[in-house]
Amino acid sequence: MTLIKNALIVTMNQHDAIIKSDILIRDGLIKALGKFRGAREEVVDARGLVVFPGFIQSHVHLNQTLFRNLVDDMPLMQWLKKNIWPMEAAHNARSIKAAARLGLAELILSGTTTMVSMETVHHTEEVLKQIAESGIRAITGKAMMDAGRGVPALLKQKTGDALAESVELLEKWHGHDAGRIQYAFAPRFAVTSSRRLLEETARLAREYQVAVHTHASETKEEVALVRKQFGTTNIQLFKQVGLLESPLIIAHGIYLTGTERKLLQRHRSLLVHCPTTNLKLGSGIADIPLYQQEKLQIGLGSDGAPCNNNLDLLREMRLAALLQKPKYGPGSMPAIRVVSMATRETAAALGLADRVGSIEIGKEADLAIFDFNTIQTTPGSNPCSQLVYSAGRENLRHLLVRGRFLLRDGLLTGWDHQQIVREGRDQARKLLQRLQ
Ligand SMILES: [Zn+2]
Repeated sequence: MTLIKNALIVTMNQHDAIIKSDILIRDGLIKALGKFRGAREEVVDARGLVVFPGFIQSHVHLNQTLFRNLVDDMPLMQWLKKNIWPMEAAHNARSIKAAARLGLAELILSGTTTMVSMETVHHTEEVLKQIAESGIRAITGKAMMDAGRGVPALLKQKTGDALAESVELLEKWHGHDAGRIQYAFAPRFAVTSSRRLLEETARLAREYQVAVHTHASETKEEVALVRKQFGTTNIQLFKQVGLLESPLIIAHGIYLTGTERKLLQRHRSLLVHCPTTNLKLGSGIADIPLYQQEKLQIGLGSDGAPCNNNLDLLREMRLAALLQKPKYGPGSMPAIRVVSMATRETAAALGLADRVGSIEIGKEADLAIFDFNTIQTTPGSNPCSQLVYSAGRENLRHLLVRGRFLLRDGLLTGWDHQQIVREGRDQARKLLQRLQ
């Protein structure tokens, strides 16, 4: 049992209540809120600290963390074909492990407690092992590619193999650790998919009742390629093949027609806004206020490290808030709405609303505890404003998933920080040697 004492809690419940309270955690659950006395197993003094629900990142690629700072200033298709796919093809189990640990450590150090990731074609089990060890909550799957130009031979699989390997991973890992890890089918995007791959993915996702995670409508060039290959738009295609019938997590969605947006809204798909990546690759700016007006569900993601170049959701929150203000005015995208996107709204869209996304009795104790007693956050009377506009990852003091500390007093509890950096550097060097 853990008692977090004297905290200021940004609950993100349906009333957006901010309360002063203790949090009593038992068996990973928030058992009670209020004032408690008496001896407890473990007491954490949170006086002067601010507790938020842990953040949900709904689009990352852990395996790409080793490619950070290697490829900048390129448009999407060139960036994928010339650099990212060949580097993914050069991965082995050891380099994937190092990439996953580097990525997971960074997520933990910046407040993420739940992440949705798309991995590469091979060695995804290594990523799953690291996710299991890290303690983070995750929805993940191996990338499937069975078509398209410019895909390295090593990454282009036969349709049956891509699906069979996915099912094998799903059967082994979906539901691991009482549902902390969930599997999602991950066709990379329509451009590298055959129609049969998408149809079979839809069928299997329904059969196993799992989510599908993919990219769509990130650039105009991609939209044109999809029209050439399939004679329609991304979301119409997803409708035709049956993908909209399952929980669908779609990264980007910058170039969507009104009809496509209606389909996403009707099927309650989650669209993941990745503002830094969209700017860095020069892809465009998703019209999020319009999408929200149309009642689409919107999450936030960093995407992979090489197109960002970090995995810190605080930066995405700040950018997501600022990006819309020139067009919609300074009153658009207030800090609390962005925090809601990173917590409660995405939890609901991912089917996790009964577990996470707000600090309420009965939910699992996924908590990000910040210290705003620093120069850059002082003074402040609105914790959401402090978080989104002023704070950085250095303000994060503790991070808990299901009541377990993954970060304590700013330090990783499970892994050796320096070793992760060393292995990341070594494995990146070896991977680049394999590329030559
Ligand atoms: Zn991506």
